[in-house]
Amino acid sequence: MIRIGLTGGIGSGKSTVADLFRKRGAHIIDLDVIAHQVEEPGRAAWQGIVEYFGREILDAEGRINREALGGIVFRDRAKLEELNRIVHPAIYDEQRRRINDIRGRDGQAIIISDIPLLIEGGGHKKMDVVILVYVSPDVQIERIMKRNGYTYEEARDRLHSQMPLADKIPLADFVIYNEGTLEEAEAAVEKIWKELLKRNRSQNDKEIKQ
Ligand code: ATP
Repeated sequence: MIRIGLTGGIGSGKSTVADLFRKRGAHIIDLDVIAHQVEEPGRAAWQGIVEYFGREILDAEGRINREALGGIVFRDRAKLEELNRIVHPAIYDEQRRRINDIRGRDGQAIIISDIPLLIEGGGHKKMDVVILVYVSPDVQIERIMKRNGYTYEEARDRLHSQMPLADKIPLADFVIYNEGTLEEAEAAVEKIWKELLKRNRSQNDKEIKQ
């Protein structure tokens, strides 16, 4: 089994690229989706967040208001770190559970974990393959303003809370430059997919021989 992490920055195109890998047969574990699930009312991360940030960050139904929480943590690094300390253990437990579940059903599966803050959290060191989806900061801002309806300032604040994508390039095994068309992104994904298949096969051969 090879451990593959897909990362990038806000709005760089991770979900778009993950869909292209999924179309080719990869299993995608989206840690952002898991993060939402572990923050459902009553679950462990929800309790920790409410204890630290107070009930003001809940909406009328008792759910975490992610926009409000984002507004707090994206302007305050210490609070962002505290949020991560609360949420990460629950997320990684669930990720491990899903990987085991997929491998139990398909020993040859190619599993790609889509992890927005893979490199910030040091998780890239535990991966066999790191795939980075890169766009310039201007394109990131333009795309999230369009997608989320953010003002320029809101988009910029969110971008500045993350490590610049240019600093992540040297830490990646593959970089998908996603400023062009979707067809261009797909061509890049196809090339990497062939390489992943090759690596996965040789890894499986090794495991069989052991
Ligand atoms: P986040 O981490 O913020 O959820 P993401 O990295 O998963 O973002 P996407 O949601 O895949 O990014 O892409 C951000 C936006 O840019 C989306 O609206 C998507 O449709 C658009 N987009 C992605 N790739 C391209 C492309 N090559 N050409 C044009 N638009 C694109």
